Amino acid sequence: MAAPMAAPCDHRGKAASPGRAQGPAYVALDPAVNATGPTKGDARSALEAAVAQAVEDLRALSARADAESAGLLDFQIEMLLDDEILTPAIERIAQGDGAPLAWAGAMNAYIDAFDGDSAASDDDPFTVKAADLSDLKHRVLDALAGRPPADFPAGAVYVGHDLPPSLFLTHDWSKGGAIALLRGSAVSHVAMLARTRGVPMVIGLGSLAVKDGQTMLVDGAEGFVRLDPTEPSTVPIPFPVKPLPFPAPAQSRHVAPSSSSVGEKVRLCVNINTLSDLEMIDPALIDGVGLVRTEFMFLSPAEALNEERHFDGYRRIVEHVKGRPVTLRMLDLGGDKPLPGLVDAGSGSFLGQRGIRLLLAHPEIARIQARALMRAAALGPVSVLLPMVTVPEEVAAMARLFDEEADRLALLGTPFARPALGIMIEVPAAALTLDLFVEAAFFSVGTNDLMQYLSAAARDEPAVVHLNARSETALFRLMDQVCAAASALGKPISVCGDLAGDPEGAARLLATGFRDLSVAPSRLAAIRAMMSPTQTGAAGL
Ligand code: PEP
Ligand code: MG
Repeated sequence: MAAPMAAPCDHRGKAASPGRAQGPAYVALDPAVNATGPTKGDARSALEAAVAQAVEDLRALSARADAESAGLLDFQIEMLLDDEILTPAIERIAQGDGAPLAWAGAMNAYIDAFDGDSAASDDDPFTVKAADLSDLKHRVLDALAGRPPADFPAGAVYVGHDLPPSLFLTHDWSKGGAIALLRGSAVSHVAMLARTRGVPMVIGLGSLAVKDGQTMLVDGAEGFVRLDPTEPSTVPIPFPVKPLPFPAPAQSRHVAPSSSSVGEKVRLCVNINTLSDLEMIDPALIDGVGLVRTEFMFLSPAEALNEERHFDGYRRIVEHVKGRPVTLRMLDLGGDKPLPGLVDAGSGSFLGQRGIRLLLAHPEIARIQARALMRAAALGPVSVLLPMVTVPEEVAAMARLFDEEADRLALLGTPFARPALGIMIEVPAAALTLDLFVEAAFFSVGTNDLMQYLSAAARDEPAVVHLNARSETALFRLMDQVCAAASALGKPISVCGDLAGDPEGAARLLATGFRDLSVAPSRLAAIRAMMSPTQTGAAGL
């Protein structure tokens, strides 16, 4: 069925994620949808309120429990009310930590002390166990995160100024639905998620007089929305749409080596944003996973600060791809990727504390992730990417942190392997000084950020995003230099930004000398087709 053409009464915006869907509007123009956790200023009272909330929840549980369970719950309540637990966290807040980090850091230290206490008796039901403390830690972290941003009904069309990635990730898109944004940007993270997931999205509508519940059609390919459409309702597309059209390998189950026009082998890998992306990936048809955006895998501070949660997610990816190499990127929080309760949306400057800057400023988070990454590296070929690196000292600091956590795992007898650490090339200062990054084992170019930083035009700012796109000439001059520098150093280099998933962009990257691309699963077929010998001429190689 052909896509409807825009009629005069349609509202024009810009296409951000192709596809068409209609449904009742959910109007979320109230900025409260973007509500984040407590700010630093009131971190102490936020923590005290979260502890009080946890105590209240435990009391309610205790009131309904049998006598034995109630005894244990009451004991947990006593522990939470004990100053010995709260005071170290409050001291950390006084030194500048936010409430979730202060609480997690203080509780981890406490748990470590109990872990090492060999005098504790397993027979005493009231012996403080690390597992109980860990439960308390997560209960308070959940309370700190507060109510998650209000979700909206499945199948609805979300209408708002913007849509936080965390809300996109928690929403159930299996019943269809679409996104219509008054502002927004096609190169924002939420647009990228919508494209991966096949959710139609239109941005830049400016204003829209629509009522809650009014039927709306969103055409994400043509870039318009229609109120009260007269055409029959479109069938929602369940996710995953269908197995993606991977071209079948010629003879065997093994991936046919992709080649450039000069016959050199090209590695073609996939980018993963969430574990559900695994459903779209046939490991036999990829060379590996070139980028896992781990920041999209954890939707609350309790998850992001839970080592087991990290390990379990990484293990599932490593097992799914059956021996193919996996590159896991450390949390790239900040910018347009807040984690409510841990990283405020309000401090979301792309030039601020983001990626490795945030991780080094809050090593508690980095240590948890480093341990999980090293445990995952014992299961298969895992390497680790550091986001938003600017100077070599950041890599050295992170390498030291990995060494310290490796010692700790060794002491505990936990199986682990020390993965190679590579860096994202997305800050121009790093791109221009590759030779100084002696500790980086490999490089991966993030063209999405490199373009916004080269053009000084934020990728989520509709008023200037056209400049971002027009920085391509500058980008390719720099890419030329970066590719030559990596090859002179003899270090692997790949490209994992969206440009690699665009056939024309990928053709230019191959012509520049790149031989390792990582693209969204939905872009694999198009890129492989571009690289096939019959099409290379047409692609302009
Ligand atoms: C990039 O910047 O190109 C990149 C791959 O990282 P992200 O899009 O997650 O910022
Ligand atoms: Mg980036």
